[in-house]
Formats: sequence, structure tokens, C-alpha cells
Amino acid sequence: MIFCKATKKNARNIHDLLEEYGANSGQRVSPHKSKLYGGSISSTRLTTLSNTLGFSLGSLPFDYLGVPIFKGKPKNIHLQALADRVKSKLASWKGHSLSMMGRVQLVNSVIHGMLTYSFKVYSWPKGLIKQMDRCIRNFIWSGNVDKKKLVTLSWDKVCTPTSAGGLGLRKLKDMKKAGCLKLCWDLTKSDKQWAITLKSRFFRNSSPINHAISSSIWSSFKNVLHLVRDHSIWKIGNGLSTSFWNDNWLGYKLKDLILEPLPNPISHLVNAKVAEVVHNQVWVLPEIFKQQFPIITCDIHALSLPSTPEPDELVWEDSISGELTFKLAYSCDMQPPQCIGWTKFIWKLFIPPSRSLVAWRIMHNVIATDDNLIKRGLTIVSCCSLCGSSYETVTHLFLRCPFIMQYWNWLSSLLGMPLDLSNFDSLLGICNKGWSPQLHDLIIAAIVNILWKVWKCRNNVRFNDIYPYFSRDLIYVKSLIHQAAHYSKGLNISE
Ligand SMILES: [Zn+2]
Repeated sequence: MIFCKATKKNARNIHDLLEEYGANSGQRVSPHKSKLYGGSISSTRLTTLSNTLGFSLGSLPFDYLGVPIFKGKPKNIHLQALADRVKSKLASWKGHSLSMMGRVQLVNSVIHGMLTYSFKVYSWPKGLIKQMDRCIRNFIWSGNVDKKKLVTLSWDKVCTPTSAGGLGLRKLKDMKKAGCLKLCWDLTKSDKQWAITLKSRFFRNSSPINHAISSSIWSSFKNVLHLVRDHSIWKIGNGLSTSFWNDNWLGYKLKDLILEPLPNPISHLVNAKVAEVVHNQVWVLPEIFKQQFPIITCDIHALSLPSTPEPDELVWEDSISGELTFKLAYSCDMQPPQCIGWTKFIWKLFIPPSRSLVAWRIMHNVIATDDNLIKRGLTIVSCCSLCGSSYETVTHLFLRCPFIMQYWNWLSSLLGMPLDLSNFDSLLGICNKGWSPQLHDLIIAAIVNILWKVWKCRNNVRFNDIYPYFSRDLIYVKSLIHQAAHYSKGLNISE
């Protein structure tokens, strides 16, 4: 892609350059495959330029390397094609044949990748983000982008890290903000030609413009510029790029701390660069400043200057390297996730995620037992499929049912102590009894695998008319625990 000012001379020069390049390299530019796009210029001039170059006229929008190129603020119409591509990708996967955790993995690795690329350029319209979130949410829960599942957890909770009770997914709204922030940061820091050109459009005397412009990038930029300003700090080199008064180079901005006007002899510092108070890489503050602001003077003197002058550098305050990564941008201004105790018991490398997920659904009470279905408006006559003598509730099925009691009794006799079955938290509390690390892992594997197996048995009775046989099933559960022990510490255990 070549950009230039729309003059006949420029068009001729580009034409000659391409001709010369073709003659020397043997790689000729095909006029039939090349197009000319104009900005705000008359159609007569555009036609003249098109004739000079020999390229036909193209019209916006068009796609370039998968990114739609258009003029003005991003609208649904510009990005719908990409949204549809994501939707059809989701629909093409056999969602039903994957476990829910498999679907989470696919969304995290493929779908988020497809969208991040675009989020780093454009600020997507809210409506489109909602539409995409809905498709992803349906796909995760039901395997079908158009089918809503009845018993689900709020999407906000699902989109938190696993340690905070979620599934480690990201909300598109926050990913969009992260993309915009990353672009804003790259633009603010870069001194490459693209950044210089855009900065000349977006800033007047280092302040952002406050009038509307027809730009597809500006909307990404303006909403997060305050975040870049709030979370970055200038590392002083020669002081030439940093504003003494307006920029954060001391951990705060002087304009925020000094509320009265500066006295006359030093009032010019308001418009000065830091270089004004540096001489031969040593701080030289005016006497009147030192007398009036002794604490700030101490802070300034505490900043060491590099022995040889080098350009000032803007660094991201929470970053070790000083650079803003997409991950840091995502968590910027977000409440740190609150860790939930039980999550550390169910998500383990030695337990397949699809089994941990059953425990996760039980802990959140979002498993499709009769009580949860009735709560969400379904009219059914409830009966526990495993004992036939009680209503089916989450508590009954997994803590009280005579069927699961066979498992809990087995585990309890193995450990030589009773299990507290008053609720799920207290059941998992058995893991905290000061066991050796190996035994600790084994108990976790036993509980998670039992919950998973019982849910499977219940579904087999209910939907396939296949009835469980405890002694045979217990052998299977034991083998799963053995497997987990193998992956956990590589131990060979006999029981
Ligand atoms: Zn029962």
C-alpha cells in the first residue's frame, strides 16, 4: 500500500518508480490488479490521477490483509463481515461433540485470536460486541451459537480467571478496550512515520483535539487516552520530550500538586520541558522553586539522571520492561479478581478439565438438576433417577442420595475419618486436614471423579435407560484416581 498527497506530480513519480522497479527486478506491477483510492478530493482530479497511474478507481470500504479499510467511525456495516466469519467458524465446529471445556479452549485460542487483531485497530460498536458475546456464550454453554441453555452462570462470572471461580474466558468488551489501549500506547510512544502522521491529526500543541474528525482510528484512541496518561510515567534522559508541568515524571504531575500559580520569575516553567532544569545531566532548579517547594525539590533530586544524555522514555508503570502488553492492557483499571478457595481444589493438571467442570457447575449450582430446571420455569415432576425415592436437588444428588453415599462411605473408610457432608464447601474442606501432598492430591482426585461419575450415572439412567452397578463403577473410579496419582506425582499406589 502506498500513500501520497494527491498531486499529479506524485502520481507520475510513483508511476515512474514502479516502472523502474519492474524493469530492474523483473517484478512488474499489474495495473489490472492495482487500484487507486482517494480521500476528500474531487472526482475530476481522481480521474486524472487514475489515468496517470494507469490504475482503475476503487471505492471504500475494502479489505486489506483481512482488515476492513473504511472512512469514518467504525459502524456495524464495516465489521459485520468479520463478525459473520467468527460466527460461521463457531457454527462449523461440531460443538456438541466437544466437551464444554474443549469449547472454552477453542474460543480462547482461535476466536479471541481472530478478534484481537481487529480490536487492536478499531473500536467496535457496542451492539456488535454484544451480538458476538451472545454467540460465544451460547456456543460455550450449548455448543450451538443460536441455542440458549437454561441453567447457566452469569457471563460476567464465567469471564473471570479460574482462581476467581470463572472459566478463564475474556469479555469482548474488555478485549476491545485492551486493543484500543494498546493502539493508543503504541501511537503515543512511536516516532515512526505512521505515528507522526496520526499524531499530527489527533493533537494540537500536545493536547488532543476536541473537534470531530472523520477517522476510523480516532474513536479507538480518544476513549483510552486518559488511561495512557494515568498509567504511564516519563523516565527522564535529556528532559527534552517531557513537560515539566503537565507530564507525570515524578510519580505525579506538578500541575496536580501545586494548585497556586507559580511566582513570576519561574512562571515560565509551566510551559517548559524538564530539560530547562537540567544542565550537563545535573539538576539545576531555580532557588525560588527550591525555597517554595522543598519536598518536591527533594523528590526531583532523588531522581538520578543518566550520565550521558539520552531521549526521555515513556514507560508503563505496572510493567517490568516498561512496555504495555495486551495482557496488561486487558487488566488495566480492572478490579483484581477475588480468589475463591474451592477453585484450587477442582482445577488440577492431573484431572481432565471436563471432569473438573462438573464440580465447577455443582459449586456454582448451575448443573441441570430438577430443582434448578424448576427454578428456571420448567414444569416437571421431579424424582431422583438414582434412588427413586426423593426429589432431585443438587444437594440430594451429590450429598444425600443413598447412591452417592456408597462412594462417600467408601472414601470415608479409606481415610479413616467421617466426611462432613453438610455442604460442598465442607466436603472439600477434608482436603485441608494436613495430608501429605500426595494424599492431598489423591483426595481431590477422588472427590472430583466421584462427582463426575455420579452425574454421568444419573444422565445414563435418565436419558439412555442404562442403570449403574456400584461395584463395577467403583473399580472404574479407582482406576481414574490411580491415573490422577500417576500424573500428579508419578507415584505408584496400591489403593
Ligand atoms: Zn437419590
